[in-house]
Amino acid sequence: MTPEPCDKCEELLQGYLDRELGDAEMREAEVHLDGCDYCRRRYRFESNLRMYVRTTAAERMPPGLIEKLAELRSTGAA
Ligand SMILES: [Zn+2]
Repeated sequence: MTPEPCDKCEELLQGYLDRELGDAEMREAEVHLDGCDYCRRRYRFESNLRMYVRTTAAERMPPGLIEKLAELRSTGAA
């Protein structure tokens, strides 16, 4: 069974990841994550990604380098 994309994701997951939800909504998100395979996978993926970005970006790279990388990516030099 393949989990189907779920409307709740955009609505709840982003706020949940950013800790922007109120108490009731946080609970709702947790309950939903508990029962929804799609959101749970996405949540795991997103939170890993955030952790990875945070650790590599914040601790390993000087701020100037991050901007350089962003610049390189946007000019699309290949
Ligand atoms: Zn869901």
